[in-house]
Amino acid sequence: MFINIHTHNPEYAANVIEIVQHSFPNTIQPSVLHSVGVHPWDSEHLTPETCVEFLQNAVQNTKARFIGECGLDRAFSLPIHLQMPVFEASMHFAQSNNYPLIIHCVRAYSDMLHLFKKHHITVPIIFHDFRGNSFQLQQLSVFQSFFSFGTSLFSSQKVQHIFREIPFSRIFLETDTAHISIHAMYQQAAYIKNISIETLKTQIVANFECCISNKITRK
Ligand SMILES: [Zn+2]
Repeated sequence: MFINIHTHNPEYAANVIEIVQHSFPNTIQPSVLHSVGVHPWDSEHLTPETCVEFLQNAVQNTKARFIGECGLDRAFSLPIHLQMPVFEASMHFAQSNNYPLIIHCVRAYSDMLHLFKKHHITVPIIFHDFRGNSFQLQQLSVFQSFFSFGTSLFSSQKVQHIFREIPFSRIFLETDTAHISIHAMYQQAAYIKNISIETLKTQIVANFECCISNKITRK
């Protein structure tokens, strides 16, 4: 079984479990496994209260398994202090309802670290499209963190390098917005890690179960 931890373009293939992204303000498809969240680029449209309201409605009677992608983006025009309240509300919602988080983080790892400590985050945290360095990896690994990789595994030597460093027990793969099959991502990842696709599949299924084991009894 392949796991695609973050996609906006589901394949709906029989041998793929995929977490389809539903972001504010889009409507929810209740029948597919998904993550639901407010992207930092949209955070200016919400207050912490309306964010929680959106999340609460979105997880009710659906197959929402993750909260996200949510986070902080220092490359975006909205100042970070205006992104923070909605992100903090999202983190708090995930922690108090025991949902793993899917994180969008651009040049804001130290802000994240601060907030994870402040909010005593213990739920799994998945950094989607991780592009951090060794030092950030080390610091973030204090939490129950996972690191997900997409098409930059084909194009960026820096990302390939950090991917080699990350223990198997902490990795995920994703297609995000790219029109590529998750199978192609596994091929590239297995090549870089110098292991078989089968071994990689087994490990990522274990990581996935670790993340959602406390969620699977929900509808
Ligand atoms: Zn995305």
